[in-house]
Amino acid sequence: MNRYIMVMDQGTTSCRCILFDERGMAVSFAQKEFRQIYPAPGWVEHDPMDIWSTQIGVAQEAMLKARCSHRNIAAIGIANQRETAVIWNRRTGEPICNAVVWQCRRTADAADALIARGMTGFFREKTGLRIDAYFSATKIRWMLDHTAGAKRQAENGDLLFGTIESWLIWRLTRGRVHVTDFSNASRTMLFNIHSLRWDEEILKELDIPAALLPAVAPSSAHYGDTDPDIFGGPIPICGAAGDQQAALFGHACFTAGEAKNTYGTGCFLLMNTGEIPVSSKAGLLTTVAWGLGGRAVYALEGSVFAAGAAVQWLRDELRLIDTAAESAFLAASVEDTGGVYLVPAFAGLGAPYWDPHARGSITGLTRGTGRPHLVRAALEAIAYRTADLIAAMERECGVPLTALQADGGASANEFLMQFQADIIGARVMRSACAESTALGAAYLAGLAAGYWADETAIKKTRQPAAVFEPRMTKTRRAELLTGWRGAVRSVTNRS
Ligand code: ADP
Repeated sequence: MNRYIMVMDQGTTSCRCILFDERGMAVSFAQKEFRQIYPAPGWVEHDPMDIWSTQIGVAQEAMLKARCSHRNIAAIGIANQRETAVIWNRRTGEPICNAVVWQCRRTADAADALIARGMTGFFREKTGLRIDAYFSATKIRWMLDHTAGAKRQAENGDLLFGTIESWLIWRLTRGRVHVTDFSNASRTMLFNIHSLRWDEEILKELDIPAALLPAVAPSSAHYGDTDPDIFGGPIPICGAAGDQQAALFGHACFTAGEAKNTYGTGCFLLMNTGEIPVSSKAGLLTTVAWGLGGRAVYALEGSVFAAGAAVQWLRDELRLIDTAAESAFLAASVEDTGGVYLVPAFAGLGAPYWDPHARGSITGLTRGTGRPHLVRAALEAIAYRTADLIAAMERECGVPLTALQADGGASANEFLMQFQADIIGARVMRSACAESTALGAAYLAGLAAGYWADETAIKKTRQPAAVFEPRMTKTRRAELLTGWRGAVRSVTNRS
């Protein structure tokens, strides 16, 4: 009998389900988008019941496509959109309101108020995070404050909070298991990443009752079994991680110095820093990568706000290209940008600069600057911003990057991948499997279920990647980086 690992990949816009076999190959796939709710400018909500029914729908569809019963599923792993907060009634199972999504800015003022009260260091030391509306804490407070009777119900222990994996597990076990994993807990801004417990001082500060919170468990562990009615029999739920951490695991970045970068609209870079949480002064986030076998592994995380977005801008606003893919050929058609730098600070610059007032610029234009030079400068900028983050990470954790694993839409760009390797002076690997996030959740669940014996067995399942070796001389790299820093200085000084 064939046995698979089922992954529920619960993203921001869609629910996906993938069944993986022992070789780490996807044998069945189903996906469905669900409703995005925008009640006011800058606000984003999801209906938790919609997420639940959509997720179960795609799970059943994936099983049907592979002609499987529950007996063919060795375990379930979950990868989920992070930070999004759900609160529901423990007796009725009804959410008290819509989920407040990670992108939602409704609590920006509440976050600013914490910063104004000088709480930045307090939160950074305990949670590894910069105070921001992005994380769950202020969202939970908002939901309790703006739902009639919720405060009292929460104090009486009638309500439960969870990020999406926690909500799904509670539903899958028909209310028997209320749990979250270390990686998701570390995105709530309530979790002490050193003691690996909810932080009592933070809960007191934000007046959030502890009774609301799930138990916290490793990312690879048997949390419970699905209710037999859902899939015709019980299936063990054995793994969960936030999507970015799951992707790091899916790329098999198991040791300190290994990193992954997702090149999408923005970039999400995570570097494994081993068993010690590295506190960042450059404004990177310190986060739990995963909990496995009784220990936690940490990561530094940084993001680039505008990455693929710069390519979209070339296409849609400047109309310099017809398709994103075309940018690779144009960029490669010239030797270099001729001294042109494009800083895509459309909405400010993140780590390590943190200047929300910075705006984009193009510097070094000459009469000879043409379309290919501008296109090349935009692609190079994605690589420079990634290099900025990597340099900050290396400096702060004292571990050099060994290799960079690449995924996401823009990683298809051969020019970008080669230039990335050149500018960081390290190998870039683009994995053959486009599903690193789901694969990470499969690996976590498969390890706890004994489907794979250990990390070595997992590494054997990896498909060969496209490898981009650095070819640029050190002198040239230093020259280009100096030019880039100059261009960045010119946009950050202006505010
Ligand atoms: P997201 O998940 O953020 O929507 P994707 O991983 O789907 O992003 O990637 C889409 C982004 O990647 C877009 O911003 C697009 O401009 C960019 N992109 C896609 N293909 C290429 C390419 N071949 N070269 C450069 N950029 C690309």
